[in-house]
Amino acid sequence: METKKCPECMTYLAANAKKCFSCGAKVKDANKVGIAKRPFNWMSYLLSLLSLIALGLYIWWAFFK
Ligand SMILES: [Zn+2]
Repeated sequence: METKKCPECMTYLAANAKKCFSCGAKVKDANKVGIAKRPFNWMSYLLSLLSLIALGLYIWWAFFK
């Protein structure tokens, strides 16, 4: 049976699993080393973008006021 690994907790999952039964993370197809890919997470992408903008604004405020 083909397996892949959960990217969050490294549990072995069935190759066609869509979700980790151990930690509940959503998983996609396995990559070439046998670890399932994470689905793209828009929320964390947006949050990191926002924190970058906030940092930029802070630097601007601190040095160019
Ligand atoms: Zn997991």
